[in-house]
Amino acid sequence: AKKVGGNALRFYADVENTMHARERLQIEADLRRALLEDQITVFYQPKVDCNSGSVVGAEALARWNHPTRGLLSPGYFIDVAEETGLIIGLGEIVLRMACRQGKTWLDEGRGMPLAVNVSVRQLDQPGFTDQVLQILKETGFPADQLELEVTETVAMANPEITQSTTQPLREAGVRFAIDDFGTGYSSLAYLQKLPFDTFKIDRSFIWGLGSEDSNRLIVQTILAMAQSLNFDVVAEGVETVEQQQFLRDNGCATAQGYLFSAPMAADVFAKWRDDFSCSHCVPGTCGPAAK
Ligand code: C2E
Ligand code: MG
Ligand code: MG
Ligand code: MG
Repeated sequence: AKKVGGNALRFYADVENTMHARERLQIEADLRRALLEDQITVFYQPKVDCNSGSVVGAEALARWNHPTRGLLSPGYFIDVAEETGLIIGLGEIVLRMACRQGKTWLDEGRGMPLAVNVSVRQLDQPGFTDQVLQILKETGFPADQLELEVTETVAMANPEITQSTTQPLREAGVRFAIDDFGTGYSSLAYLQKLPFDTFKIDRSFIWGLGSEDSNRLIVQTILAMAQSLNFDVVAEGVETVEQQQFLRDNGCATAQGYLFSAPMAADVFAKWRDDFSCSHCVPGTCGPAAK
């Protein structure tokens, strides 16, 4: 009976894997078309100064206007994009759209720095540096207004690639951030040598801030370390006033999260920014609920 049970389990597992594989193939095929047919769009999420409450920038985040499934977040397609290499084309599209949008906002007198996520597959491309410089030139977006976000695991796993790729871009003024900081295994010795300007504290550490002492200590430690290593810090996933206050009180300069806004389409972002005023960090006055 045991044996039969085992086989039955294996049978169902196989069915599931097959369906899974088929779905991934479908996503891949759809995504391939999406890149050609302008179905990729970019949403923007504000970064807010913890002390003044002013908007100090935004992160550009990929969205997919799927013809039948509607607007899709990266959770649906980013893994497939990474595995198939489609992330290279997707990343280029997002970077170009963000720089174009950034230039438009700049010309309208509402300029601000924009951050764009970069995959290891892009960094591995020999032509990546030139591509970024070319897009900056073509769009007219100033290099010193662009920040590229690289996840911690990637930054740490490929120090040589990271170094040679980032060097010419940094000389041009582009900044680099370590995304999801705290989830990788950063060596302190490396950190100081790596060509990065900003830590983005992973949101898993921010969630617990309201209650868990351990996360408070970790975040305090990251903030202290960033200060002594001369890194800027952005806290991601800030959802409550309590979290925001804790961050501000412990010297975190910048916060990003649903407390202020979820990512928005460019036109929605522009309107939101015009309306946004936050006598920040004072309980009850933050975020949409206070409006
Ligand atoms: P990320 O770079 O760490 O971006 C932050 C993610 O956290 C975004 O998810 C954002 O919507 C979400 N988020 C922001 N504030 C909050 C909050 O207060 N609470 C919660 N629960 N979530 C919050 P999104 O847009 O779904 O993107 C997920 C990930 O996909 C990104 O994580 C990034 O790693 C990747 N990604 C997105 N766009 C691109 C892209 O153009 N290129 C590459 N390579 N990766 C991208
Ligand atoms: Mg990011
Ligand atoms: Mg992140
Ligand atoms: Mg991430």
